[in-house]
Amino acid sequence: MDYEQIKLRLAPCGLHCGKCFAFKKGDIAEYSQRLKESLGEFSIYAKRFVDLLDEPAFGKYTEFEELLNLLANPTCGGCRIENCFLYKDCNVRDCHINEKVDYCFECSKFPCSETGFDDHLLKRSIKINRRMKEIGVVNYYNEIRNKPRY
Ligand code: SF4
Ligand code: SF4
Repeated sequence: MDYEQIKLRLAPCGLHCGKCFAFKKGDIAEYSQRLKESLGEFSIYAKRFVDLLDEPAFGKYTEFEELLNLLANPTCGGCRIENCFLYKDCNVRDCHINEKVDYCFECSKFPCSETGFDDHLLKRSIKINRRMKEIGVVNYYNEIRNKPRY
């Protein structure tokens, strides 16, 4: 994946949109769609399996399916395309455009107090940006691309 493609998956703060459950081109969406396809009409069987296999967990299949449908149909285009609806107080998206940088680590004010993040997210973003600065964006992406975000 080249730099421009990676940019669509890595937000300016460094968080990995590509592994976000809300990202429509994300891994979670893809795997959820595939699981949905593989399960087919399993709901019919799940009801039978409660008694047949004496397994009450199958009785929760409807709730599971509801969540799977949600994960399989996310709507976010990623931080480079639209505002993040998970972190509503985020200032980084507008700010990096004003500062004319792709990522915070490239900004002369980094690390700053203007992100709008809580302490936990701020620490995470600073750590990610320092690593990107150290090894470069493409190398950083290759380092984390198969790791879960959560
Ligand atoms: S912009 Fe926010 S909600 Fe959208 S994919 Fe990125 S982290 Fe997830
Ligand atoms: S001012 Fe802060 S939030 Fe804005 S781009 Fe620079 S480092 Fe990122």
